[in-house]
Amino acid sequence: MIIVLKEHPEQQQLKNLEEWLRGMDIEIHPTQGIHSTILGLVGDTSRVDIDLIQALDIVASVKRIQEPYKSANRKFHPLDTVITVGNTSIGGDIFAKIAGPCSVESEEQIISIAEEVKAAGATMLRGGAFKPRTSPYAFQGMGGEGIDLLLKAKKATGLPIVTEVMDLSQLDLFADVDVIQVGARNMQNFQLLKELGKSKKPILLKRGLSATISELLMSAEYIMAGGNENVILCERGIRTFETATRNTLDISAVPVLKELSHLPIVIDPSHSAGIARFVSTLTMSAVAAGADGVMIEVHNDPTKALCDGPQSIKPDAFKVISKNIDTLLNTIKALD
Ligand code: PEP
Ligand code: MN
Repeated sequence: MIIVLKEHPEQQQLKNLEEWLRGMDIEIHPTQGIHSTILGLVGDTSRVDIDLIQALDIVASVKRIQEPYKSANRKFHPLDTVITVGNTSIGGDIFAKIAGPCSVESEEQIISIAEEVKAAGATMLRGGAFKPRTSPYAFQGMGGEGIDLLLKAKKATGLPIVTEVMDLSQLDLFADVDVIQVGARNMQNFQLLKELGKSKKPILLKRGLSATISELLMSAEYIMAGGNENVILCERGIRTFETATRNTLDISAVPVLKELSHLPIVIDPSHSAGIARFVSTLTMSAVAAGADGVMIEVHNDPTKALCDGPQSIKPDAFKVISKNIDTLLNTIKALD
């Protein structure tokens, strides 16, 4: 971190600033210019509040050199992280195909979809039990019963399950869940992230609707700082001025996140597009961009789905996409 001081800084304020920084084990290397002084800070500056320094009368500007996230940072962990999920994994050379309905609706629905996506090559089953809906009058999910049904589907197919936690009070119900999803709306629920940091379970952390890549990584850092290194990042489309799709898939998030972090990254083309017929194209773009997996909403009868029917594809379409993913992955490997 570099602090540029204003000309003739008030000496007591400067002394206070220096003492405060040294108190955090930070070395200060001053460089005296003609008009201003620059303080170069060396040490772990991730705990330094940049806004607090910026607000001081004696400070002209502050710049971070080191990113404020450590655990999620590729600089300190150059190799790709591979996360084990049940009998499968994600990251490195292993591409994850996560598929299933937006929400669990019945035993018959979840088991039949689980069987079909498994036959088509899915490696994990998704399904919402607790649903964050924009309207309080919309279907809110089956709750604990939905988790029980997911566990039945897991038993029937062997597929590990991914499902969303919305609130701390629900966590006990997730004991047998393989991957806990933190939805876009909860990406900055710091209390929830801290609690998930105490768990060892893989967490699929979705990017918030209007969150920057840096904010997504800081949320991952919350989980990792608590001791849980098993974080999977998920780009699910961000809110832009464009209305042709539900959200805008930020495909550049893949190479950017790959450069900044060692954590696996999954693309959710379903919530990105909001329209079933675009899911295939966005999935292929995710594979081409170097994502470690995709999470796709699949429903046996999208017209009757209780949630996100318009963006859900049928199992047959998933089968084609799954095959195309493999073909593209092999083509990319051959290019390398
Ligand atoms: C979901 O995965 O069904 C979901 C609600 O996702 P998001 O948090 O990305 O909207
Ligand atoms: Mn959904």
